Amino acid sequence: MTTASEADLPELDSLEACMQRAVPVLENATSVTVLCHVQPDADTIGSGLALGLVLERKGIPVQVAFGFPDELPISMRELPGTHLLVSADQVRRDVDLLVTVDCGSVGRLGRLSDRLESAHQVLVIDHHRSNTRFGSMNVVDESAESTTAVLATLFDMWDVDIDDDLAHCLFAGLVTDTGSFRWVRPGTHTLAERLLATGIDGSRIARRLLDTHPFGWLPMLSSVLGSARLEPAAAGGRGLVYAVVRREDVGDLRSEEIESVIDIVRTTVEAEVAAVLKEAADGSWSVSLRSKNDVDVADVARRLGGGGHRFAAGYTAYAGSDDIIATLVETLG
Ligand code: 5GP
Ligand code: MN
Repeated sequence: MTTASEADLPELDSLEACMQRAVPVLENATSVTVLCHVQPDADTIGSGLALGLVLERKGIPVQVAFGFPDELPISMRELPGTHLLVSADQVRRDVDLLVTVDCGSVGRLGRLSDRLESAHQVLVIDHHRSNTRFGSMNVVDESAESTTAVLATLFDMWDVDIDDDLAHCLFAGLVTDTGSFRWVRPGTHTLAERLLATGIDGSRIARRLLDTHPFGWLPMLSSVLGSARLEPAAAGGRGLVYAVVRREDVGDLRSEEIESVIDIVRTTVEAEVAAVLKEAADGSWSVSLRSKNDVDVADVARRLGGGGHRFAAGYTAYAGSDDIIATLVETLG
């Protein structure tokens, strides 16, 4: 028999309705694991820790974790809530609710993806347009600046008081995913203002996350940028610029230094698309893609096994760097 509420189901799938359904699921969970993506950035960690802190305050047992690498990036160690982090092998298998934050697909969980099967329920909270909706509940706002911005809305619906510790975590994701408030929309600065009004030190948070590198960063940039190449004919004549970060370029520099390279390469005016190939310890390559106007790099990355946003995406490749570039040029058309 079809009831009136079942007839209304399509409407229930609106973002707001999904959030409304997520609130009691979070509130009534008996145990929660919050998973961030591999090679974590400040948006996934800020989201994971903010949600972890809220659950902890409600007396719900909670673990926060990410699949790779073993250590939290140094720039994120001042975030409140790091006491909730456990190493990947300590993540319990028999959890009531598993929440993923800032993960567009199962693959982003790395070696923790097997925890999905043993969880009673899975809630996906994200803002990637390529999100595959792999949860039993999915709160995905493609128009949100960051996953922490999605959480701010969810917290309001949940009547959570956003104090300075939560604001610190949420601001970390907002400032990094908006490129220091360059990629914004109406409402972005209203949220930033609200978070800053709790008394957090926005300049310190931004400097530590985005503007702090050891001296060795400068010679690394010199060698990597010195080998950058421009392919004006690629992407239908709109141009591709790329640079390759090999293990020997990196030495003991941190992920923060490696991740900074794309932000310089992508400024090249002659190219619509920018790529940076980053060699991992196992010989695989992590590829960052950026575009400016009319190439949807989320789509390009998806075709190459990854995902992301329209203007910022990535994927993992297992080949020599020349072959990876050849495949990328072919995919760009
Ligand atoms: P970044 O270049 O900063 O590592 O990533 C840019 C965007 O692409 C981020 O939103 C990130 O989540 C996404 N992304 C990067 N690498 C991968 C990947 O291997 N798979 C998927 N699905 N998304 C990725
Ligand atoms: Mn994000």
